[in-house]
Amino acid sequence: MELNHTHDATTRSWLSSANEPGTDFPIQNLPFGVFRRKGSDEAYRGGVAIGDQIVDLAAVAAASVLEGLPQLAAQACAGSALNDFLAMGPVAWRALRHALFAALRHDAAAQTVSTLHGCMLPQAEAEHGVPTRIANYTDFYTSIHHARNVGRVMRPDDPLTPNFQWLPIAYHGRASSVVVSGTPFHRPMGQALPPGASAPVYGPCTRLDFELEMGFYVGPGNAMGEPIPLEQAEDHIFGMCLLNDWSARDHQFWEMAPLGPFLGKNFCTSVSPWIVTMEALAPYRVPFAHPADEPQPLAYLDAPANREHGGVDVQLEVLLETTQHRTKGAAPDRLSATSFRHQYWTIAQMVTQHTVGGCNLMTGDLLGTGTISGPTAPEAGAIVELSLGGTRDIELPGTGERRRFLEDGDNVILRGWCEKPGAARIGFGRCQGEVLPVK
Ligand code: CA
Repeated sequence: MELNHTHDATTRSWLSSANEPGTDFPIQNLPFGVFRRKGSDEAYRGGVAIGDQIVDLAAVAAASVLEGLPQLAAQACAGSALNDFLAMGPVAWRALRHALFAALRHDAAAQTVSTLHGCMLPQAEAEHGVPTRIANYTDFYTSIHHARNVGRVMRPDDPLTPNFQWLPIAYHGRASSVVVSGTPFHRPMGQALPPGASAPVYGPCTRLDFELEMGFYVGPGNAMGEPIPLEQAEDHIFGMCLLNDWSARDHQFWEMAPLGPFLGKNFCTSVSPWIVTMEALAPYRVPFAHPADEPQPLAYLDAPANREHGGVDVQLEVLLETTQHRTKGAAPDRLSATSFRHQYWTIAQMVTQHTVGGCNLMTGDLLGTGTISGPTAPEAGAIVELSLGGTRDIELPGTGERRRFLEDGDNVILRGWCEKPGAARIGFGRCQGEVLPVK
C-alpha cells in the first residue's frame, strides 16, 4: 500500500480538536464505526472519528455534500452496520476516505465546512454498536512468544506445537458474543479440574483472563471453493481494531483437548468501536520475516509484498482499573506494553490460510490475531503469562493490590496507537470491559 497525500503529517483540519497533539483521531486517521446519541433510541448509523467529534455518515449522505462514488459509499454507511460499505471494496473505501479528508481539511470550502459541522456529534455524547453484522468470528494464535509462554504452563517439556512455525493456526470462535467496548459481562460458570483432583468441579471461573489482540474485518470476501491468494489478501481486509478475547483459563485447560476452545472462550469477546483502515496504517507497515534458522513460509504463504511490508507496527498496552482504583480516584495501572510488529504471521497470511482449503469469508466477518505478546516478559498480552500461570503476584502500584487473575469489578482497558518521526500519530481509541460477578 502506497503513501499518498492523506498521510501528509503537516495537513491540518479546520476542526481544532483534530490538530491537538496526542489525539487518536487526526485527519490522517478517519476510522469507521457505528454510533447513536447516548441513551437514545435512535438508529445506529455509520460514522467517522475526527478529533473529539464523529462525522455522521447518514447525515452526510442525506446532505448530498459528496458526489459520485464517495456519495454512494456514504449511503452504504447510513445503516446500522458497515457491511454494505465493506462489500464495496478498496476503491470505494479509498474514495470515501479521500472525500472526507478533503472536506475536513483546513482549506475546505466554507459551504462544505458549514454542512459537515452540522453532521457532527461529540464523541462524549455518543454510544457505539459492533461495527459490522458479524456472521463468523475466527481467532488465530500467531504470537510465538505467547505460544511459548502458555505452552510452558500446559506442556513444560514441549511448549511449542510443531505446526506453529508452518501455518497460522486458529479456531472458529463465537460471533454471537462479540460486544463493543464498554459492555460488561458476568464471570462465567463452567467445569474445571482443580490441581491434583481426579474429578472436575462445576462453579464460577477462578482463573479469568484477558487477551490483548487486534481484530480485522473482512471486506468483499470470497466464494466457497475460491481461495484468496496472498497477493490479493489485503484487498479483502478493511481495517483493524483492538480486541479482547476474554478467557476462562480453568475451564479452557480442562475442556480444550482434543478439539480446542469452547466455553473457556465463548462467553464474551470485546472489540473497540473504531476500525482503523488499512490505508491509514500505510505509514506504519514494516517488513515481515521468519528468523533464517526457522522454517520459512511455504510458497502459498509467501509473496514479495508480504515480505517487504506485511507487518504493522502498532503500539499496544493493557491497563487495569479495579474497584479500588475507582474508589480512590487512582489512574489505572499498566500491566503490559508491546507492539503488533512481533507477530509470527501477517494478517494477509491469516486470510490466505483461512481460505486455502476453500472456506468462504463473508463481508463483515471478524478475524482475531491471537494474543499479542512481545519477546520480553513485560510484553506479555495475557495475565496467565504475567503471573506465570497464576504462581506469581502482579502488583498494582496505584492501589497496592495484587492480582494473579481478574477479580469482579476489574475493568481491563486496551489501547493502541502508531507513531514515528515524519508521520502523523494515529490511534485506535480504547477497548474496555468490566467483569461483573457471576450471575
Ligand atoms: Ca485468543
